[in-house]
Amino acid sequence: MRLSRYLLPVSKESPADAQIVSHKLMLRAGLVRQTAAGIYAWLPLGLRVLRKIERIVREEQDRAGAVELLMPTLQSAELWRESGRYDAYGPEMLRIRDRHEREMLYGPTNEEMVTALFRDAARSYRDLPRILYHIQWKFRDEVRPRFGVMRGREFLMKDAYSFDLDEAGARHSYNRMFVAYLNTFARMGLRAIPMQADTGPIGGDLSHEFIVLAPTGESDVFYHSNWERPAALSAVDFEDVGGLQAIVSSYTADYAATDEKRDPAREAEAGAALRQSRGVEVGHIFYFGTKYSAAMKLSVQARDGSDVVPHMGSYGIGVSRLVGAIIEASHDEAGIIWPDAVAPYRVGLITLRADDPGCVALAEDLYARLTAAGIETLYDDRDERGGAKFATMDLIGLPWQIVIGPKGVARGVVEVKRRATGEKQELSPEEALARVS
Ligand code: ATP
Ligand code: MG
Ligand code: MG
Ligand code: MG
Repeated sequence: MRLSRYLLPVSKESPADAQIVSHKLMLRAGLVRQTAAGIYAWLPLGLRVLRKIERIVREEQDRAGAVELLMPTLQSAELWRESGRYDAYGPEMLRIRDRHEREMLYGPTNEEMVTALFRDAARSYRDLPRILYHIQWKFRDEVRPRFGVMRGREFLMKDAYSFDLDEAGARHSYNRMFVAYLNTFARMGLRAIPMQADTGPIGGDLSHEFIVLAPTGESDVFYHSNWERPAALSAVDFEDVGGLQAIVSSYTADYAATDEKRDPAREAEAGAALRQSRGVEVGHIFYFGTKYSAAMKLSVQARDGSDVVPHMGSYGIGVSRLVGAIIEASHDEAGIIWPDAVAPYRVGLITLRADDPGCVALAEDLYARLTAAGIETLYDDRDERGGAKFATMDLIGLPWQIVIGPKGVARGVVEVKRRATGEKQELSPEEALARVS
């Protein structure tokens, strides 16, 4: 992509209304614009990051055995009356009337709708277990939308729902999502700690929030210092019930709990190894038994001909919140430092002199070769000062920069810079191409 044709409204100024670094950088780097309180337009560069995150989430859901579908944003109030949540939900729900005065709402979550869809489609034990997910915009009329996309009113969520014949099956589905989440966040360069979370009236130990530590996070969290080790990825067989349980058990062995689930005994045991911090909730998994299936009369025929009410769980990831969370975890004074896996482009190509035929010829040639090699490249072909181009590239944080200037052209070299380390190398165009591949 040529910057001369792109929409990238960057700014040097720190926006006055942004309190945390990720929000500031998202505005300064031209990723998003707020169009109403807590509602954002995704500008081209921001959209590419959002799509990359979405893709990782999707790949890991698929790998864990979940199946994608797409449910609408607008829902009918009738559906929510079936579960009793229409009146219970409160002012976070955006309620709408259509021209026929029918009561509608913009979905804050989808338990009701997915339960109704599954009720319509599933007949017998052969239709279970299933995990269904979608990646869709949600609306919650948050009292205090803030920190940019971290707490929006409209936000993109991946939500999955599991249906099993019994509690043991539901636990396996839960474990699938637990391990899928470990892999998902690790691929984005994030260390998200699974923390015991409040299960509400159902009880049990089957709810975890996945928390990324950050001083600006909105959750108070407590954990054993062992968790300061990086979480490693492993090759996982999701069909292996015992093997999956062993992974989950090992990842829950060290104490980690949100404020509501603090355990004084385990904190005493941790002693000097106990850590307290703030964190950002990037995911939340939850087993809730037959709460919705019973209320909404979902049942299927068991092998022996009797009726069984499926056990369910739900599993959310804040896809748009992750954009902010990743920036909180990865930036410096000059701007964002995108992990390779979610970077909007892999390479930023800069020509220092748009009026120098030698520079332009080499830049055009390298741009064509990068593009042909399938390397996503943002090419700054504008007629601007070098200093401004460098600042923009550092701000938007692409993993690699290739700089083409007249002195280098004379010697047949370009400069390759790794954004994360600042390390620079002079290389021939061929070597540069190989380096960033
Ligand atoms: P929070 O505690 O931050 O309000 P939540 O517990 O209400 O989140 P869930 O219902 O668990 O949220 O939704 C699943 C995921 O959706 C959360 O873990 C979070 O990553 C994301 N999410 C929730 N609310 C928002 C929001 N207002 N803006 C962006 N992402 C959100
Ligand atoms: Mg909330
Ligand atoms: Mg929460
Ligand atoms: Mg939650």
